[in-house]
Amino acid sequence: MNDANPAPPDSRLTRLAKSLEGRYEFNAILGRGGAGTVYLVRNKTLNREEALKVLTESSDPEFARRFVQEAKVAASLDHPRIVKIYDFGRHEDILWCSMQLVDGPTLAHIMEGGIRMDQVSMARLAVPLLDALAYSHKHGIVHRDIKPANILINADGRPFLSDFGIAKTDDAVQKTLTGQMMGTPAYVSPEQALGEPVDARTDLYSLGVTLYELLAGGLPFLAESSLQTVVMRLNQAPDPILERCSTMNPEIAAVLMKALAMKPADRWASAGDMKEALVAVCEAAGIAWAQPLAEKSALRQLLPAKMRTRPLADLKPTVPLDHGGRRSPGTWKAPALAVGILAVLAFGGASLWPRKPAAAPAPQPLATKAPEATPAAAPAEAKAPAPRPAAPAAAKPAEPESRRPVTMPVAEETPPPGLQSTPGCAGRTVALSLLVGEDGRVQSSRVLSTGPADCAKAAQEAAARWRFKPARDHEGRPVAATVSVAVPFSE
Ligand code: ATP
Repeated sequence: MNDANPAPPDSRLTRLAKSLEGRYEFNAILGRGGAGTVYLVRNKTLNREEALKVLTESSDPEFARRFVQEAKVAASLDHPRIVKIYDFGRHEDILWCSMQLVDGPTLAHIMEGGIRMDQVSMARLAVPLLDALAYSHKHGIVHRDIKPANILINADGRPFLSDFGIAKTDDAVQKTLTGQMMGTPAYVSPEQALGEPVDARTDLYSLGVTLYELLAGGLPFLAESSLQTVVMRLNQAPDPILERCSTMNPEIAAVLMKALAMKPADRWASAGDMKEALVAVCEAAGIAWAQPLAEKSALRQLLPAKMRTRPLADLKPTVPLDHGGRRSPGTWKAPALAVGILAVLAFGGASLWPRKPAAAPAPQPLATKAPEATPAAAPAEAKAPAPRPAAPAAAKPAEPESRRPVTMPVAEETPPPGLQSTPGCAGRTVALSLLVGEDGRVQSSRVLSTGPADCAKAAQEAAARWRFKPARDHEGRPVAATVSVAVPFSE
């Protein structure tokens, strides 16, 4: 960006700022996530600074209805460690919500500095977060997207859980979401990835991944692609944290590892139980778990070097706005982008293949996206069926917006036929990317997960016979699209 060729002003922001000008003054961008942009605003009536999230435009009419429902749920929560939702609304097609401003970085910003926390800092974060989870679970709300980017640390070193934007009441899950699951691949629980029902133990798993990452300086599961990262947790337990942090108290390690059990039944039954266990082992070890994460001066040292020189009240990187609502050139923006890229994967689940007790469990879709640029993208190991050329419109890399899929391909039969039990595959899950043509047939498949070739082949052969209701563009016309599915072999 340069002065001769400035970016066009963000017209949505300009329109919204105008409609809210009696109430809010828009001052800066606090960050961007997968679902929208968060602005630093001043509430003119109360003369208070707040964070205001403007949601990304969506072509799905269901989206606005769900947003309002979810904002109401989030606004009903009142806990000192949960970011308070103050208000929400809609101006034309623009949805927004205002919330409590947390004057510090997210845990993701802190971890960007490459730090590893010790077990004392971990406990000082975990205990209050478990408190917040116990409270929201008691109110029937599972967060579903616990991750470092959704944990904010204020300048006093206390954590806040934010972004209940995709959290659903138990009721809403049944009635409105019909099984569609969302989450962030690196932190998602096995049951979420498979589109199975979620409950409080799902949040404990994702919190466990977050705490593990803090201690070990790296994720328990990490593969080349998001899907492989997800599939790993369906097939294997994480390395014991003691192998990565050998000086850790083994009892504290055991509390954490229990949260990371593959099966929900093997995890802590509730956030309250996990908190109680953690507090007990901390007290036995003489750990002062009730203290803040760090004193103000030390909090700065946890941040990446580029953020350390900022004034203490401005520990969070902000992007000033010019009058047109543009980002100013040359300002810091990397972490928000990095988080946004990771967060775009949404998981489709039981709504597409409702689970039935069957010998071979139904495959569960993991994600969908626009068709790959060319059919040749399917590698040679994709044996069945012989890939047919994709529909011409699908093969063009620069697909016009109007022909992009806005719905996923949906399996015609539940469960799709043909997954035979295969020796050596019991209990395994194979992730496949399927190119589904306009006619609903699978044109090619690609194996995304690692594991025995025989299992991958069996999964591909079964998938080649499935029939789908094809993806649709925004005018309801069938279009080719890829859908990623996880094919679990029964035990
Ligand atoms: P996603 O929404 O895709 O899960 P995310 O959680 O990073 O990603 P947002 O919730 O939109 O995205 O937040 C984007 C950024 O805005 C955060 O990284 C944080 O820096 C900032 N932010 C969000 N909420 C607040 C808040 N209440 N107070 C201060 N800053 C906030």
